[in-house]
Amino acid sequence: MALSIDAKLRVALVSKEQITQSSTYKAQGGMAVAVGPDDSIEEHILDTLRVGQGLCRTESVTVLAGEGPKALEFLQSLGADFCHTEDGLDLTREAAHSRKRVVHYYDYTGKYIAELLAGEVNRKSNVERIDNAFLVDILTTQDGCCGCIIECEGRLIHLRSAAVVAATGGYSGLFSRSTNEVSSCGDGIAAAYRAGAAVADMEFVQFHPTAATLSSGKVFLLTEALRGEGAVLRNSEGERFMFGYHPDGELAPRDEVSRAILLEAAKQGGGAVYLDATHLGKEHLTGRFRQVYGELAKNNLFMEHDAIPILPAAHYTIGGIQTDLWGRTNVPSLYACGEAAATGVHGANRLASNSLLEGIVFGRRTAEYINGSFLAIASTPEVPKATAEIGRLQVKMDGLRTKLASVAGVVRQGEELQAMLRWINFAEKDYGVCPLNRQDYHICNVHQLAGLLLEAALLRTESRGAHYRQDFPQKNDDIFCKHTLQQWGKETVME
Ligand SMILES: Cc1cc2nc3c(=O)[nH]c(=O)nc-3n(C[C@H](O)[C@H](O)[C@H](O)COP(=O)(O)OP(=O)(O)OC[C@H]3O[C@@H](n4cnc5c(N)ncnc54)[C@H](O)[C@@H]3O)c2cc1C
Repeated sequence: MALSIDAKLRVALVSKEQITQSSTYKAQGGMAVAVGPDDSIEEHILDTLRVGQGLCRTESVTVLAGEGPKALEFLQSLGADFCHTEDGLDLTREAAHSRKRVVHYYDYTGKYIAELLAGEVNRKSNVERIDNAFLVDILTTQDGCCGCIIECEGRLIHLRSAAVVAATGGYSGLFSRSTNEVSSCGDGIAAAYRAGAAVADMEFVQFHPTAATLSSGKVFLLTEALRGEGAVLRNSEGERFMFGYHPDGELAPRDEVSRAILLEAAKQGGGAVYLDATHLGKEHLTGRFRQVYGELAKNNLFMEHDAIPILPAAHYTIGGIQTDLWGRTNVPSLYACGEAAATGVHGANRLASNSLLEGIVFGRRTAEYINGSFLAIASTPEVPKATAEIGRLQVKMDGLRTKLASVAGVVRQGEELQAMLRWINFAEKDYGVCPLNRQDYHICNVHQLAGLLLEAALLRTESRGAHYRQDFPQKNDDIFCKHTLQQWGKETVME
């Protein structure tokens, strides 16, 4: 986004950590783009809509898939040289894609793209990077957003700006078992919510079926491209089981595979479930999947002869700040893009490898809109005031992530969701006391977002895509083919 802002506009690019801590950096599989000889934008749209189970916004999906080839060209224009064969790009097929469509750089596509973009940003004279700074709150006047407060080296700094773009990632880090960093905890979504922005679809959290637990305790993703290229799932008896649950077997949508893994493990009395890629051979595994192979080898697991024990982990959050096709929120001059935004492209379940694409397509559109709106503005915005004070929540963080993982995980149950929401709401609040350090802001955000997620999950008394209610296992299109919307001071509604 920052790269596409006109050179006449100044950008402060704030990030709380090194890029290595971002989800973008960790992306393995690649970016979905309909550029294969047997593929088309229409096929990409259809696959995305099918997996989204009635909740995708068709116009957003059309933009996503339609502008995919241009997004790829943009990266290539910056020098990206994705893996290719003699015939062109080496496209991989991933779960629920009807075609080979995923452009990749071995199995560390995210690192490759993140480093490329960071290098370009460093060359832009209108972009000032402010690293190790924490977004605390977004400021508004009656006319809309006019800046934000960041905490940097213990000081609160007030940044005035004509526009704020929340590109702060998702909230999978709220769960104790997650492929994300703990710090991917939705700060920007919480700040936007406090500033009056509508947030949508917070109940939809995608769990990745195949994550390994390393000896360090770290949860490590085993990219879906492994299954796309032939790796299979086996139970503790060594039997393949996925075709018993879904006709697409290992390439079924992620929610189906995640639930099947848990059911199969339970059937085997809690035995482990394995991802078996032994037949792909050492040469292919060490070449194409060099990051995954290397990380597992450090843990004494060798994919050419070891099946790898796996379990699902929270991976991607579909919910976020509701935006239109240009990154606009309901608060004038407040924008959102990337995983922090709810553009409606993922519906109730995300098609694999659509999120790197979403970040580039909608990030560039947001920049285009800002360029068009603000190039003409010369005046400084009014002196801002905060819309909502952050309260110090007198509650321990301990246990929240573990509790959330068990209560709002792959399988959910109304009574448990309700009990956890009560637990969060009973937390003593003392609004008006300004928090003093990052941990306080962090705790405040985590509680706010967990509360929003639980409320939304309770309201959706059906099962759809990534949201599965054991007490309401059926999809109910008559009532629930709608988006969940939440706004500060208002009832949660479905529209
Ligand atoms: C292990 C893994 C593998 C994945 N593989 C793929 C894949 O193959 N293909 C695909 O399409 N998607 C994949 N995804 C998902 C995809 O990587 C993410 O959805 C996407 O990269 C999110 O980009 P983002 O820019 O929105 O957020 P991020 O890349 O997470 O960046 C968020 C930024 O916001 C900053 N930030 C956050 N909070 C604050 C704050 N309070 N103050 C200041 N700064 C803040 C962070 O420091 C960071 O710089 C994967 C995700 C993971 C975790």
